[in-house]
Amino acid sequence: MIHALQYPDRVTLEKAMSPGGFCLEPRRVAGLYELVYVCPCGCGVIGRLLVGDGHKPGGDRPSWNWNGSREEPTLQPSVNHVDHWHGYLRSGYWVLA
Ligand SMILES: [Zn+2]
Repeated sequence: MIHALQYPDRVTLEKAMSPGGFCLEPRRVAGLYELVYVCPCGCGVIGRLLVGDGHKPGGDRPSWNWNGSREEPTLQPSVNHVDHWHGYLRSGYWVLA
């Protein structure tokens, strides 16, 4: 399990480049965020997920339901990062599927 540590912004996140670290960037629509994260596998790739606070956003892009917690975030469904890391973000930890 890799701890998902929240960073205040993308600059800080990219400076740390800690696997599993993330930051939340609010979108214009209330309750929607980009969850920017460093791939938990350690490859150093940054990904982004469209998440909704307490709901799964609609629309064309893949999206995730976020439980609204910054300390112990949970996403549904699972996260499949460019076909090399597939798992879950659950209660603040990245867990392999
Ligand atoms: Zn990776």
